Amino acid sequence: MDEFSLIRSYFDIPALTSPSNTPDPFLALQIGDDCALLQPNAGQQLAVSVDTLVAGVHFLPDMPADKLAWRAMAVCVSDLAAMGALPKAFTLALTLPESSPQWLAKFSTGLAAVAKHYKISLIGGDTTKGPLTITLQVMGEIPCGQAIRRSGAKVGDKVFVSNDLGGANLALSCLQSDHLSEEQLQLQTAYFSPLSCIDLGIALRGIATAGIDISDGLLADVGHIAKQSHVGIRIDAQRIPLNSAGHSYGYRKQLLAALSGGDDYQLCFTASANTYEQLQAIAGQLAVTITEIGSVHAGEGVSVYNTDVVIEQTGFNHFG
Ligand code: ADP
Ligand code: MG
Repeated sequence: MDEFSLIRSYFDIPALTSPSNTPDPFLALQIGDDCALLQPNAGQQLAVSVDTLVAGVHFLPDMPADKLAWRAMAVCVSDLAAMGALPKAFTLALTLPESSPQWLAKFSTGLAAVAKHYKISLIGGDTTKGPLTITLQVMGEIPCGQAIRRSGAKVGDKVFVSNDLGGANLALSCLQSDHLSEEQLQLQTAYFSPLSCIDLGIALRGIATAGIDISDGLLADVGHIAKQSHVGIRIDAQRIPLNSAGHSYGYRKQLLAALSGGDDYQLCFTASANTYEQLQAIAGQLAVTITEIGSVHAGEGVSVYNTDVVIEQTGFNHFG
């Protein structure tokens, strides 16, 4: 199959170009020309983020293609969630060692499912031959000036995290097992199908002073907020919500997975202490949990208290 029939068969299809099945003036021109054209609504800014997943580095080469598609999108859309953007469009740069119809059909189906979930439309891409690599670029809208940035944390703010942490990292030890316990299946779901907190990010506009999605581990990612906001952050280890499916690994492993493991794609944000009630109301409406885990101080860096677990690694860093 040549490049262009491949694109027509698996990517330039309504399930991907119009997953919500409703015309959207934002999508002025989609797949087929040299560029796509986007028409942001008046008063909106375009939020753009790109993520690359490389076989053997970010995922096992034999990972099922539909699961891979879901994870690739969730990872990327999570950056929109962190800033409070509404997902609108994406491009796909796909590098494949061979054009296997089975793999492509599965990937396309998985991608259509996740595109529908996030109501995000495919507008273009690039298709090349080489080692399996998936690059997604996502675009979303945010009302001008309302993006939640890493740099806004204020001394006296509290630090919050959504849902629970550590599950995806603990799943790494059982990704290839055949006989999985109920708990291990839950951990695998945390790894394969993270659910980016789009609605939460949007609800936090105007409330969160700073925010980030947890991709590399809580400590590393909170560290970015501390650095860019020129503040210090203290985290209470005992308040960190741990994925309960990781119970059999023991507290120490659960805590380390949450602090340094990454891959959970929950949101961590700072907000004034007097927003607590408002945050719990949002959590109730969106059926998520929001837990206060720390506070913002004058100074720099991130420290963890209320634990005697020795933390050696702060998070994942490709060239670290
Ligand atoms: P060009 O050579 O001008 O860069 P291409 O031949 O690479 O264009 O692509 C032709 C069209 O198909 C473009 O509109 C491009 O955005 C789209 N396209 C290519 N690969 C993909 C893909 N994997 N998914 C979606 N659209 C794609
Ligand atoms: Mg061109």
